[in-house]
Amino acid sequence: DVVFRAQGLTKVYHMGDVDVHALRGVDLDLRRGELVVLLGPSGSGKSTLLNILGGLDVPSAGHVWYDGHDLTKASERELTRFRRQHVGFVFQFYNLIPSLTARENVAIVTEIAEDPMTPEEALRRVGLEDRMDHFPSQLSGGQQQRIAIARAIAKRPSVLLCDEPTGALDSATGVHVLEAIETINATLGTTTVVITHNADIARMAHRVLYLGDGRIVSEKLNDARTPAS
Ligand code: ADP
Ligand code: ADP
Repeated sequence: DVVFRAQGLTKVYHMGDVDVHALRGVDLDLRRGELVVLLGPSGSGKSTLLNILGGLDVPSAGHVWYDGHDLTKASERELTRFRRQHVGFVFQFYNLIPSLTARENVAIVTEIAEDPMTPEEALRRVGLEDRMDHFPSQLSGGQQQRIAIARAIAKRPSVLLCDEPTGALDSATGVHVLEAIETINATLGTTTVVITHNADIARMAHRVLYLGDGRIVSEKLNDARTPAS
């Protein structure tokens, strides 16, 4: 059951008279429920690939299908709807609203989503049931990132895309964040892609893809792990 299919994805950024080749022909199938980690050096195209999958960016050439719909043929309005309904994003920085509690930060999303879980359920799923009424400044970086994850999953997206979610955290704290992501994937079956430099997540992943200079240069299946669905 393929949820994402990418074929020949190419991305060129034109910077004045210089062309930056961010992706040089990426072919990729993501199965429903998979937890995939993207590894590779800085500048290898990981963020560009993630942003194209999530409809935040469009390729210069090639195609990406989500559930059989070609995102490269979608209008801006259709892409916006795709992102709102189906994609949860988590970035390195949490972008929480400092004047709102954990519960209120998540409620911003649950109030406008079609079939959301409650903020309480979302926070429980990342292990923050006893921190609902805390403000971001009263919480550690790892806890703040888990609020951001709760916010991302509260609308029950089919895909969770995480761009260096542990990039601002020390490795011990980062592990708790990665475990929260693994739990979401395992219990909700959310197809998940994580960019990270943290080797611990590679053990949790079903599959690790290595990018180099805009290409998938190798792939490792983790036989000990299989998707929940
Ligand atoms: P990371 O490798 O940590 O994901 P960034 O995504 O911030 O780093 O950026 C990676 C590279 O892409 C950097 O060299 C940066 O200069 C370049 N870059 C990112 N966004 C832009 C932009 N909007 N315009 C020009 N260059 C960019
Ligand atoms: P990674 O996430 O692996 O660090 P990126 O996808 O951020 O790699 O970047 C891939 C290449 O594309 C890099 O050379 C980067 O500088 C360039 N790049 C990324 N975003 C932009 C942008 N908005 N404008 C120009 N160049 C960019």
